Amino acid sequence: MQVIFADALGFCFGVRDALAAAERAERPDLVTIHGELVHNEAVLRSLNTRGFHSAAERDRDSLPPTPLVMITAHGVSDRERARLESAGKGLIDTTCPLVEKVHRAAQILAAEGRHVLIIGRPGHVEVRGIHEDLPSGEVVDSEKAVRTYPHDRLGIVCQSTTPPRLAASVNAAIRAANPHADIRFIDTICQPTRDRQDAVVRLLPHVDAVVVVGGSNSNNTRELAALCRDRGVPAFHVQSADDLQADWFRGYRVVGLTAGTSTLDQTIHEVHEALRQLDATCALPACPTT
Ligand code: SF4
Repeated sequence: MQVIFADALGFCFGVRDALAAAERAERPDLVTIHGELVHNEAVLRSLNTRGFHSAAERDRDSLPPTPLVMITAHGVSDRERARLESAGKGLIDTTCPLVEKVHRAAQILAAEGRHVLIIGRPGHVEVRGIHEDLPSGEVVDSEKAVRTYPHDRLGIVCQSTTPPRLAASVNAAIRAANPHADIRFIDTICQPTRDRQDAVVRLLPHVDAVVVVGGSNSNNTRELAALCRDRGVPAFHVQSADDLQADWFRGYRVVGLTAGTSTLDQTIHEVHEALRQLDATCALPACPTT
């Protein structure tokens, strides 16, 4: 079975920089990571081993016990930053500059008196951070969720990892349902997300199926798998080589390999090796079940 890599995959600079900041921490035992530094279980385990405290994303409302708090690449609201600082916490801020760009765009639209619609996943930490600072805003995750809003002025931004095709369809649905409104859209999808999506589109014509490597919690990884399936190509989302099952590949001759922006190079390499080692004869239709 041949394995072809997507020509853009894996770690983005935002995640790399956040991990580098964690690497530099001299006293991990004094630092609480405010949520998941990256949506990658292997990385989270290794941070835990180094002695970092961690607050689960659902528990971020309580006050961390340590004097230092690390803000993840997903960012937080200004309100949350102020809450932590007023409690005397020192902040190690690893917010990705491209997430900061989404915050700035949302604030520009709010300053123009617009009700701000955030295209993204409700409850996602990045989306929560953007939403919390808005005087008037809400999250829209699909065309179905779009309604006619009672506001004359609407603004639209996207969670940084929104698939471009979803942003386009929701944007169009908002415009169709709100012909009365003055609408301004600021495209805040980050370039690494675009690059990885575009690379999958280029890959699909050449493969029978795609293996997508990344955390089960990683939005951009899930979206890569969804893109494959939407285009009629089977996709297998795995977190590590251990998740691979030989049966999945029965009858496939060429398999694509891609990974989300929080997937370690090492994990991609291990998945690649495991795929190469799958018994080649089991990739053929006549292979008996073992
Ligand atoms: S996926 Fe995009 S926004 Fe998120 S950390 Fe990476 S570069 Fe930044």
